[in-house]
Amino acid sequence: MSTIEESRQELDQGERFDAIVIGAGFAGLYALYRLREAGLRVRVYEAGDGVGGTWYWNRYPGARCDAESLAYSFSFSPDLEQEWEWTERYATQPEILRYIEHVAGRFDLLRDIRLERRVATAHYEDEAQLWNVTTEQGDRARAPLCIMATGCLSVPKAPDVPGVETFTGPQYLTGLWPHEGVDFTGQRVGVIGTGSSAIQAIPVIAKQAAQLTVFQRTPNFSVPAHNHPLEDDFVRQFKPNYREHRRFHKLGLAGGFGDTEIEPRERTPAAEAVMALSDEEFTEICEDYWATGGARFLAAIADTMLKDEANQRVADFVHQKIQAIVKDPATAEALCPTSHPIGSKRICVDTGYFETYNRDNVRLVDLTRTPIDHVTADGIQTSAEHVPFDILVLATGFDAMTGALLGIDIRGAAGERLRDKWAAGPQTYLGLMVSGFPNFFTITGPGSPSVLSNMIVSIEQHVDFIMDCLAHMKAEGVDQVDAEAEAEAQWMAHVSEIANATLMPKGGSWYLGANVPGKPRVFMPYAAGVGVYREVCEQIVADDYRGFVFSRSAEAG
Ligand code: NAP
Repeated sequence: MSTIEESRQELDQGERFDAIVIGAGFAGLYALYRLREAGLRVRVYEAGDGVGGTWYWNRYPGARCDAESLAYSFSFSPDLEQEWEWTERYATQPEILRYIEHVAGRFDLLRDIRLERRVATAHYEDEAQLWNVTTEQGDRARAPLCIMATGCLSVPKAPDVPGVETFTGPQYLTGLWPHEGVDFTGQRVGVIGTGSSAIQAIPVIAKQAAQLTVFQRTPNFSVPAHNHPLEDDFVRQFKPNYREHRRFHKLGLAGGFGDTEIEPRERTPAAEAVMALSDEEFTEICEDYWATGGARFLAAIADTMLKDEANQRVADFVHQKIQAIVKDPATAEALCPTSHPIGSKRICVDTGYFETYNRDNVRLVDLTRTPIDHVTADGIQTSAEHVPFDILVLATGFDAMTGALLGIDIRGAAGERLRDKWAAGPQTYLGLMVSGFPNFFTITGPGSPSVLSNMIVSIEQHVDFIMDCLAHMKAEGVDQVDAEAEAEAQWMAHVSEIANATLMPKGGSWYLGANVPGKPRVFMPYAAGVGVYREVCEQIVADDYRGFVFSRSAEAG
């Protein structure tokens, strides 16, 4: 065969890289940075027309992170963390997106990223031992290594409300918000959903709209953010301790999302067991955490997620807060969650959410009493009434953790489809690899702490693990890695055992896939915490990568 023909064939098969990364959010950008630093030629595909992933798509009013900005940022570059100035305790979506864009520019990452490319297939070629990736836009690329940086909450759940397609006014999904924004001035608005996204959006929409009706199926626990501008003095005193803070975040010593007090401290205070506390002590601790604000409220009482009694006592405390804030007793009662333990659905962090129901232009429709019958051309028909509005906002959540992975036709060795392998729920080793899918890594995949942690802490740990693994392979003269089926099965049993030792699976939440009709019920995140998980990973590496199997491809010789 002529050389020209050979190169044409090669082009047809796709340009050759050392690694293909799918997604250009926090995970994809850090993976690209590290892979390139190791001298690899990388191609990143990203569906959006900009970088940022979750923070690119979720532009709904009020969107901000519920991990504090000083902790929810990359730790890999001490210079970056000293240079970047966060303006608020909890950063808004636009500020986080600016940060991500700054990182992409500062580390010259954009040149390896192809935007507006939605990956359609990723197939492992047994003979060539390469991943062959195609996009809906017609790109083709091949590489020995394929890294999924596709995010945990990146695929909005298809709205499963009857008649939603018949609504004639504008309708918006919080997770796919228009870039130009939405003007609610003078409009009647209906919001379906009361999860984190809705709880952030509702107070902001209420201030603009003429009338806002919230359709609530399940009330959620929410704690005040007590957001505020970051004071220069505080930041100046915090920043010299940044390395120590990061060390604690990585070890999970400062709570799941990261402590950001000026002086880092090893443990969140007062993590008392509930039975040992008098009423006064219990209330004092909870009040202290409530006044501090944020998701760390769940750490106030040590056994909140372990014992029904403790959980109920903490839930009662929040109920009392809701009843004290919301003036109308019937609305207050409807807003008090009673059908799931606190923390078993992701705790929400809000700014004025419950207070919003004291406004004259806001009304709550309790769907447990009067369920939605169907959406009409101009509103919602419940079992009791027709509620008219001009704009519909669907804050109805995501096909979490597996949605983005299963949205791509992924096939491993011998053509095995990921969709078939995961038909009864995700199977991974450490949330990092899938047995039978060689050289294929998932960043913060199901089976890792992922959504139960500060995502950036987990992303950095996974990418660092992958990079160490690649260095190990190079040193050993091998170029293929897979997970052992038995190690994978044992890991998933362990993930489930850890979850079942807590109250987490009782929430019927998206952690379990329970929000998506027909999705297998498997508790997906690893609930033992980032510190424990990191130790497990380190021990596995120390045991010569226990559970991983390495080999040499024909190409490596
Ligand atoms: P979510 O927590 O899954 O909430 C979806 C809401 O829509 C729930 O209230 C759900 O009610 C309701 N819903 C869904 N389908 C419905 C239907 N057919 N009829 C009536 N109600 C329906 O989704 P999310 O609010 O987008 O949040 C998802 C996750 O994203 C969060 O848990 C969090 O991890 C992350 N997030 C984080 C932030 C942050 O950092 N601050 C902000 C937003 C999101 P049911 O509960 O009854 O199903």
